[in-house]
Amino acid sequence: EDARLTLAGNAGPVEVLRGITLQVKRGESLALIGPSGSGKSSLLMLMGGLERATGGRVQALGHDLSAMGEDQLARFRRGNMGIVFQSFHLVPTMTALENVALPLELAGMRDAFERAEAELRAVGLGARLGHYPAQMSGGEQQRVALARAAAPRPAILLADEPTGNLDAANGAAIMDLLFGLRDRHGATLVLVTHAPDLAARCDRVVRLADGSVAGEDVRAGVPA
Ligand code: ATP
Ligand code: MG
Repeated sequence: EDARLTLAGNAGPVEVLRGITLQVKRGESLALIGPSGSGKSSLLMLMGGLERATGGRVQALGHDLSAMGEDQLARFRRGNMGIVFQSFHLVPTMTALENVALPLELAGMRDAFERAEAELRAVGLGARLGHYPAQMSGGEQQRVALARAAAPRPAILLADEPTGNLDAANGAAIMDLLFGLRDRHGATLVLVTHAPDLAARCDRVVRLADGSVAGEDVRAGVPA
């Protein structure tokens, strides 16, 4: 069955996604595009197991997310996925450094803070380690969110408009970081984006409209 997602809106249930069949290969980079409200963020949340499909199944790395209990799903996500949210979801009471170190500490890494610092330097935030989210610009928070998601070197990176708040130079640096994760660590990338240059670097571009897949552009040179 194709995946569906119905959310309980205030004025009754809203069918947000329907008839979605989508497979992403390991190491592939996929851009999700489409107009505002077409369901891109919802699909990303479904893929990350943060929303549960109302119908159909969601699988990742050979595991059926739809069949997992909450704890199991949280553990699976922590072990295999990095997620960059459209609105960042940084912990407001933690500094940039603490936000990035958190998933590394949860993974039991002893050098969590050293590694977190290196990740923040890599996104150009070496001078913002001790800043709280409220003390950072939108683009800075976005880069902290990306550093946090990328730090554990997840097999799957899901990112919602990862360059949405960045100027051209920072956007290009973030793109290099994303594709570096794929090239050096074999990460699978699913990127929601309105940025044509980011979509152009992806192996596939899938366009959503009104909660369904409306078209796909497979690029030349994609590994079979
Ligand atoms: P944007 O480009 O603006 O971020 P999007 O493609 O990411 O848009 P979604 O956030 O996935 O769009 O939303 C898709 C649709 O689902 C929208 O019409 C939205 O109003 C609706 N929706 C999202 N979340 C909920 C919710 N919790 N309850 C009810 N409806 C929702
Ligand atoms: Mg969105």
